[in-house]
Amino acid sequence: MAQDAKKYEGSCFCGAVQFTVTGAPVAQGYCHCTSCRHWSAGPINAFSLWSPDSVKILKGADKIGTYHKTERSYRKYCTACGGHLMTDHPAWKLVDVYAAVIPSFSFQPQVHVHYQEKVTPMQHGLPKFKHIPKEMGGPGQTLAE
Ligand SMILES: [Zn+2]
Ligand SMILES: [Zn+2]
Repeated sequence: MAQDAKKYEGSCFCGAVQFTVTGAPVAQGYCHCTSCRHWSAGPINAFSLWSPDSVKILKGADKIGTYHKTERSYRKYCTACGGHLMTDHPAWKLVDVYAAVIPSFSFQPQVHVHYQEKVTPMQHGLPKFKHIPKEMGGPGQTLAE
C-alpha cells in the first residue's frame, strides 16, 4: 500500500466500535435495493466498496454483530447501540463501508445500483444500474432516469 494512502476513521453510533479504512474505495454510490432499505430503515444506502485488507478494526471487535440473510451480504452492526457499520460481500471480496459511518471520507457517488427497486428517484445524471455493474459481477443493464 502506498505510504501516502489516506486513512479514514469510522465508528458506530455510540463509539464502542472504531475502525479505519485506508486507501481508496473500489467503487462508491447509492444502493436502492429492498434489503438495504429494509435493514437500514432508510430510503437509500450510500455505499463505498473496499478491499477487505483496507479495513482495520481498532476497538470493539467483540461488539460487532453479524447477520446474513443471504450468502452475498454479511451485515455488521454494533451490538451495544445497533448502529450499522459495514457489509461483507465475500463472493466479491469487497466490504461495503457505509459512507455515513466514515465522516472524514469525501463521498463521491459514481453510480446507482439496484435502481429498479428504488422508492426515492434521484435525477442528477449518474448512471442507474437495474441491478449492479458488470465490474461488480452483475448484468450491467442500465435504466433511464
Ligand atoms: Zn455502538
Ligand atoms: Zn443494497
